[in-house]
Amino acid sequence: MSETKLKPSTPKVQNPNAAAVRVAFDPLRPTEKPQDYYDEIKQKFAEARDLRLSYRPDGRAQYTSELTGELAKYEIDPHIETRETREPINDTVECLFIGGGFSALLTAARLRERGVESIRIVERGGDVGGTWYWNRYPGAACDVSAYDYLPLLDELNYVPESFFAKGPEIFAHCQSIARKYDLYDLAVFQTTVTSTVWDAKAKLWRVGTDRGDTMSARFVICANGTLSKPKLSKIAGMERFKGHSFHSSRFDYAYTKGDLSGLKDKVVGIIGTGASAVQIIPRVGKAAKALYVFQRTPSAIDIRDDIPTDPDWAAALKPGWQAERLQKHMRGPLLTEQQKRDLAALPREEKIRRQENQNIEHQMRIHARVDEIVKDKATAEALKPWYMHRCKRPCYDDEYLPAFNLPNVHLVDTNGQGITEVSEHGVVFEGREYPVDVLIYATGFEVQVTGIYNDIRGENGLELNEKYADGMRTVFGIHSAGYPNLFIMGGYQASFQFNLTFMLQTQGGHIAECIKYVREHGHTTIDATPEAEQWWVDEVIRHRGKTNRNRECTPGYYNFEGESNRRQDGNYNGGFYQYFTHMTEVKQEMEKHFRFG
Ligand code: NDP
Repeated sequence: MSETKLKPSTPKVQNPNAAAVRVAFDPLRPTEKPQDYYDEIKQKFAEARDLRLSYRPDGRAQYTSELTGELAKYEIDPHIETRETREPINDTVECLFIGGGFSALLTAARLRERGVESIRIVERGGDVGGTWYWNRYPGAACDVSAYDYLPLLDELNYVPESFFAKGPEIFAHCQSIARKYDLYDLAVFQTTVTSTVWDAKAKLWRVGTDRGDTMSARFVICANGTLSKPKLSKIAGMERFKGHSFHSSRFDYAYTKGDLSGLKDKVVGIIGTGASAVQIIPRVGKAAKALYVFQRTPSAIDIRDDIPTDPDWAAALKPGWQAERLQKHMRGPLLTEQQKRDLAALPREEKIRRQENQNIEHQMRIHARVDEIVKDKATAEALKPWYMHRCKRPCYDDEYLPAFNLPNVHLVDTNGQGITEVSEHGVVFEGREYPVDVLIYATGFEVQVTGIYNDIRGENGLELNEKYADGMRTVFGIHSAGYPNLFIMGGYQASFQFNLTFMLQTQGGHIAECIKYVREHGHTTIDATPEAEQWWVDEVIRHRGKTNRNRECTPGYYNFEGESNRRQDGNYNGGFYQYFTHMTEVKQEMEKHFRFG
């Protein structure tokens, strides 16, 4: 695996490493072991899920993102020293983005290419970057290859430094996009949009903020991110903790110091072992006097094996290389005619069985890796994930498992129970108090909520989430009838992609085309027809709930914490290629799917 990496001039494809290949499901590969082997493991998965659910049957209600009063501190922006003062704004722009992360940056770039000049980003944070502005904890990095994840590489003539990009590089890339497309010109930061109301007479959106602004915009794009609002597990006594505490997405370097040297005489506790915690733990573990990791469900930790970008490979890239690469990913593997026939002949049940069995084989490789690395047997056992591959976000880190061999890093495994009590001095589990100086909550975010912090009222004054009360209704997760000139990014009813920026680029391209269509055809507004909306809701329903997977998975945000939910209130599962194809088809018949005014 690493041999290729030592010969920088040879590879024509950057990093053919094991982690990058990830687990490609091959439906044509028959199951290797007797079925009993897999069934037994599946049974253990079910038992682990049932145990975890028995402790927290309250699903999403076990969390809160109402961060007010004593909890307000968990949402304060640690990157702003003094809150900027400015006069309220009451002007009109053509396109207004709520949020300044990748959704806004990518769509704005496509709008600029189509000649749109008046673009404003309104952002809660102090700069563009979204996730990468907020999440600056030690070790923050992306698990998707940088050549795919970092968007607009061709346009910016940039090749990432290594196969996996780290947080600061991604944040800097966001700033470069904003500079290249002049998005700083009209941007306003440290500003939260609180109301977005359609003025039918003026055919404008009236946008109110926490700064007293009354901005107007012809088009509004909700680009508030998929995982932007921090949430906390409801734990008794959180408010009475006397030490220092913060959420992973608000990492407090003023306390820890930039090089974490402020932790050398501190006992640190971290609650949660999801993708954020997996990156924080090894770095804080090395710096702190002691680190206590409070685990409810372990993450699956695969090889990262990052390598610097091969300069020869980078120099040989031809214009359009990234777009070509992404198109290839979307098409998926090329099959021979024989393989296509074999696949078509495979019964659906057998395909599902093979997929499950391969997922189990993968998780057992993850288990074996834990045994190879973690010296203490009990700790190793506790770090093994007992659920199907991808029931939770898979993690890739080469330092996480070794961290548990450090004498100052202690795993407190709650075996599905989770932490339910915090005292003045620290964390309490099963009657034992673990005193800590600082407590990090790595407990995740609200998921794919449109209009977070915001109240969106369309044609008849109906708030968007009230409209959704009987089930979400959109076209592509982007348009919702009765909300003309409003575009939603990163919400449900859209396709889900591990490489989120690719999905956002697809949505951004579509939105830019819609706006261009309105401008070029002498219209002022665009709104989905009720028929188009019904078609898409039916499409979403048709592709959801086809297997038991969601129900069988251990709880997490992927499956609504184990809650059953309406089939239309989730992502479109018909596949990304299909999602893209539908969009292309709709754009060929705009007048059929949209009402223009
Ligand atoms: P998650 O929602 O994935 O994880 C929250 C964690 O908190 C889980 O381990 C959860 O346990 C735990 N938890 C919640 N309540 C308690 C409790 N009372 N006691 C103990 N543990 C508790 O949030 P993250 O911020 O880790 O990740 C969110 C997403 O952000 C990722 O899935 C990924 O999409 C993205 N991300 C991507 C990264 C990357 O590319 N490498 C890095 C970081 C984030 P349980 O599992 O039992 O619910």
